[in-house]
Amino acid sequence: RQEQFRALRAVEPVTRDGKRINLMMNAGLLVDLPQLSESGADGIGLFRTELQFMISSTMPKAQEQEDFYRSVLRQAAGRPVTFRTLDIGGDKVVSYFRAHEEENPALGWRAIRLSLDRPGLLRTQLRALLRAAGGTELKLMLPMVTEVEEIRAVRDLLQKEVQHISKFGYELPRKLQFGAMLEVPALLWQLDELMEEVDFVSVGSNDLFQFSMAVDRGNARVSDRFDVLGRPFLRILRDITRAGERNQTPVTLCGEMASKPLSAMALLGLGFRSISMSPTSIGPVKAMLLGLDVDQLSLLLNEALDDYRSHTSVREILAGFAQEH
Ligand code: PEP
Ligand code: MG
Repeated sequence: RQEQFRALRAVEPVTRDGKRINLMMNAGLLVDLPQLSESGADGIGLFRTELQFMISSTMPKAQEQEDFYRSVLRQAAGRPVTFRTLDIGGDKVVSYFRAHEEENPALGWRAIRLSLDRPGLLRTQLRALLRAAGGTELKLMLPMVTEVEEIRAVRDLLQKEVQHISKFGYELPRKLQFGAMLEVPALLWQLDELMEEVDFVSVGSNDLFQFSMAVDRGNARVSDRFDVLGRPFLRILRDITRAGERNQTPVTLCGEMASKPLSAMALLGLGFRSISMSPTSIGPVKAMLLGLDVDQLSLLLNEALDDYRSHTSVREILAGFAQEH
């Protein structure tokens, strides 16, 4: 099967009914980069910048950050890379940042919250990214956004860095795309404001699932208790893709869900046209979508999600569809 997937590397990810799907991979270190051409991914949909911080015993210096991002972009050789600003805290531990013990680290001082409280740290990272992407395209996204106001605050800092860079005569990125991750349920009631504010939205389904179902993603005792292919979560995801269509804002998803062919199939049925996954999943997911009639699946899936009296799992319905086709 590995051989079979390898043979698909150069095959365009187009569904049987002619929809071009963007298959992106997740990455975080330079050792991940060769996987881009090995997997045939269209680009990097999630670059976890905190990895450089997690493997270091001290804070990476501004120049180290900049060199690192530049190497990533060079090795990506023109394929798009979406850099996520630091997502420290929660399950992502960085020793030199754990000042206080927290009772609920997942709900604590982390990600964009930490970055906004340490603007020097965030500005250093933004500057490093802007400089590394001078003359090319920079795609940036923010983790764990709870309120649209947080995005505006980062945009202000970004603007300052842009001015700073041009003042000192460095080359700016040719194009800048600014996005937010959708991981906190409160954003579900700010979808239109959110989409007005950003160029794209990326669903972090690992955290969005954790927070919507109130199950710790790292606690095996509860993490498998509810199904990502259950009705509540799929309805949430459908609301997001519908808001994306309404606002003409590109929506993508970069959690574990995108890595499994059956749940990836569900995502396409819900309207996602871009998903980002672990590199080893690109082959299996591509094999799935080449034979998929998305419109036919959407009909079936929407019918199931609109039926509020049925309690059969959507997983069975999806598995049945996959088997039949
Ligand atoms: C997610 O939460 O789904 C996600 C992609 O981010 P991470 O797994 O790094 O928290
Ligand atoms: Mg997350």
